[in-house]
Amino acid sequence: MSFVKGLQCRECGQEYPKEPLHVCETCFGPLEIIYDYEGIKKSISREKIASRDKNLWRYRELLPIDGEPQVGLYSGFTPLVRAPRLGEALGVKELYIKDDSVNHPTFSYKDRVVAVAISKAIEFGFDTVSCASTGNLANSVAAHAAKAGLNCYVFIPDGLEQGKIIGSAIYGPKTVAVKGNYDDVNRLCSEIGDKYGWAFVNVNLRPYYSEGAKTHAFEVAEQLGWKLPNHIVVASAGGTILPKLAKAFKELIKVGLIEDTGCKIYSAQAAGCAPIITALQKGTDWITPVKPNTIASSIAIGNPADGYYVVQAVRESGGWGESVTDEEILEGIKLLARTEGIFTEPAGGTEVAVAKKLVQKGRIPRDESIVISITGNGYKTLEAIARSVEKPFTINATLENFDELYKQLIPRMKAKAVGR
Ligand SMILES: *Cc1c(COP(=O)(O)O)cnc(C)c1O
Ligand SMILES: [Zn+2]
Repeated sequence: MSFVKGLQCRECGQEYPKEPLHVCETCFGPLEIIYDYEGIKKSISREKIASRDKNLWRYRELLPIDGEPQVGLYSGFTPLVRAPRLGEALGVKELYIKDDSVNHPTFSYKDRVVAVAISKAIEFGFDTVSCASTGNLANSVAAHAAKAGLNCYVFIPDGLEQGKIIGSAIYGPKTVAVKGNYDDVNRLCSEIGDKYGWAFVNVNLRPYYSEGAKTHAFEVAEQLGWKLPNHIVVASAGGTILPKLAKAFKELIKVGLIEDTGCKIYSAQAAGCAPIITALQKGTDWITPVKPNTIASSIAIGNPADGYYVVQAVRESGGWGESVTDEEILEGIKLLARTEGIFTEPAGGTEVAVAKKLVQKGRIPRDESIVISITGNGYKTLEAIARSVEKPFTINATLENFDELYKQLIPRMKAKAVGR
């Protein structure tokens, strides 16, 4: 049973049937899924959700598929980790990490959107799936396509980290590395999608795909005991996840699962690619595209398709946004690893460093509940951090050799114990 009523243009409100459409024919606005919320309210309950498997389909009434889910049966329901040591480092009282770095099967938030998009692609009868990606999306599309037995083409900018390239190739897709940046890839993919008629998860299936991002927020609310956090910080690239967190919280209120206690949403970007933060801080609606130059390649989108909606959602929530330098991003990665034992990629380093900056600037108060969304995994981007960590101490296999080394290490360990 599906509660999807159809698609609707976000700009002019024109309605469309449930088809693989993504732009309005009249005004070129993006299309959005609309639901029968009254029907959902009557059907859904906290108990019903709690009785279901711990994956993202436990919120299926609020997801845009008609039949049974086809993929993603182990995706989502990632840990919401209480983070007291990082909290102490940031000087805040109640801090949590929503840890999508351990999402199944490809270790980023993208497994949420892809699970929904590929389930929908199968319902529509596509036999070939594809995407324009900065890396994580390609990994996830390739893995889900393999599981579902679909043909797969993934498009990425050339020069990505090895972990992201091999992390797609292993599943057997055709990977096309396009000379240029993500924005060049994306432009090309719109043309390829039109010509070849494939299911491009983030182009022609975008309205379905983006709905999967809501599950990140549904889980945060459920894991907090059906409550909103006061603040949530998340990275913005193309601008999919952030507005969908806002939509998800509103939906939970609308269908009676939580109370509206307000949640401020904050966007995090790298200084080397911060078109959304620039617009937010200048107070304009207009996103000026930039040419990305940052180690945070998974969020290096200079011309974000949904940037406008990020700005709107942040403002409406009462939140804000900040950007941080590559150096601060590396510090953010290390800080999270050394306080909470979680290894994230530069996008996650951005999320931590921006949270820190927002607290320091007084944008986020120190005594309210804060969630930092960690959207990707550090094991895929070893190059980014390799030079910033200590090398192993190489010794011969003798006790003497170790004794000697240990003597040198003791003063350092003491200093660390005091410094922490
Ligand atoms: C894609 C991605 C994001 C956010 O991208 P949006 O396009 O704004 O949804 C954040 N972190 C990581 C690691 C990503 O791969
Ligand atoms: Zn329209």
